[in-house]
Amino acid sequence: MDFRIDAATEQRLAGIRALGRAEIRPLGLEADRLGRPVPPDHPFFRKLVSLGLGRTRWSGDGDARASRGAAAREGSARAALCLAEELAYWDRGVAVSFPGPGLGEPPVLSMGTPEQKERFLGPFREPDRPRWGSFAMTEPGAGSDVAAIRTSARREGGAFVLDGEKSFAANASRADWIVVWATVDPSLGRGGHRAFVVERGTPGLGDFKIERKMGLKAYESTSFTLRACRVPAANLLGGEEHYARRAGFKGALQSFNATRPAIAAMAVGIGRAALDEALRVAREDGRLGDSRVRDRLERGRRRLRVARLLCWRAAWLADHQQPNMVEASLCKAVAPAVALEIASAGMEIAGEAAGRGDALAEKLFRDVKAMDIVEGTGQIQRIVMARHLVGLPRDPGAA
Ligand SMILES: Cc1cc2nc3c(=O)[nH]c(=O)nc-3n(C[C@H](O)[C@H](O)[C@H](O)COP(=O)(O)OP(=O)(O)OC[C@H]3O[C@@H](n4cnc5c(N)ncnc54)[C@H](O)[C@@H]3O)c2cc1C
Repeated sequence: MDFRIDAATEQRLAGIRALGRAEIRPLGLEADRLGRPVPPDHPFFRKLVSLGLGRTRWSGDGDARASRGAAAREGSARAALCLAEELAYWDRGVAVSFPGPGLGEPPVLSMGTPEQKERFLGPFREPDRPRWGSFAMTEPGAGSDVAAIRTSARREGGAFVLDGEKSFAANASRADWIVVWATVDPSLGRGGHRAFVVERGTPGLGDFKIERKMGLKAYESTSFTLRACRVPAANLLGGEEHYARRAGFKGALQSFNATRPAIAAMAVGIGRAALDEALRVAREDGRLGDSRVRDRLERGRRRLRVARLLCWRAAWLADHQQPNMVEASLCKAVAPAVALEIASAGMEIAGEAAGRGDALAEKLFRDVKAMDIVEGTGQIQRIVMARHLVGLPRDPGAA
């Protein structure tokens, strides 16, 4: 496995470092203090677009297979991980607030027809303004157990009528469209799942409410409702034929396998920030002469390096079109726990200052917890790996 970083990625990392120091970290601290997300009309987002950020990985090639290959080449999963880690180092909340199709992109890429890619990802190729996409699976009564979603989809002529409630969807209220998962028949479990692209302004899509969060306050996590919301059948991702042979849920799992290593890499980024901050505080307080403090810091760096290697391996497999289900779960199970341990040590090393609530160590401690929850909790990842160990399908409903 070759883990060298190519020159183009090095250059982009240097760009993120400069932007991170000057704007991302300060913006994250400000959003945290104000307790609200960076607003969509903030000049920072226009600047990002002018810098060529906020774009889709989709190459614009109409052919699905060529497009997937192009996405892998252009996006290179490992390069994307390096960039995700660096962004999260400066502020993971701000990183998620960046314009772009976001978590909505993987399902459109993996399930969408060429026409749907053109319609929904096309505007993200060279965006004229900050644009966002969003992904909504979670519901008040369905988190880890995604099979329990109750948002219903009923066919009516050339449209589907959606009814239900979604929660914690990143950037949903500012998104051009949201990939909404619904069920055509709850008795079919995952076999009844369908993914719809619901466009902004569709009558019946509304009640957006930005959730209160303990950390990562710079981006919005939003609940919303769908009330007799008529979505054209052309917005059913992949069309009806895609869902033959219970492929619906598989589409979601493919998305998760692509995104879990990225979430793990972001945890590594927050962990690195916590370690650097703990080192800075310990140095300032003259505590680096204490071998117990040194040992805690070194343990943190050692475990972070291991976690990063696990992330890179999962990405390397993806880049080489090899199955990475176990590796994706492994890095997602390990990295957030490691980062949380370091952030916790950072709180203790900062001592009284951390308890006051205005220290970076304390913010990072609040930010990092969510990394264990999003994209499948640590417990769920361990369940997936244990089932794999004994030869069971990934989840009970997948057999
Ligand atoms: C910051 C943030 C951003 C998010 N962004 C999005 C988003 O953009 N789009 C989206 O759709 N969702 C999003 N989510 C939702 C997220 O995916 C869910 O929170 C997650 O799936 C967990 O679901 P839950 O919170 O309902 O917890 P639950 O599923 O109720 O779980 C509660 C606890 O029980 C454990 N548990 C559950 N089932 C089992 C089991 N079978 N065995 C053992 N333990 C179990 C879990 O590990 C957890 O510790 C986000 C959440 C957060 C916190």
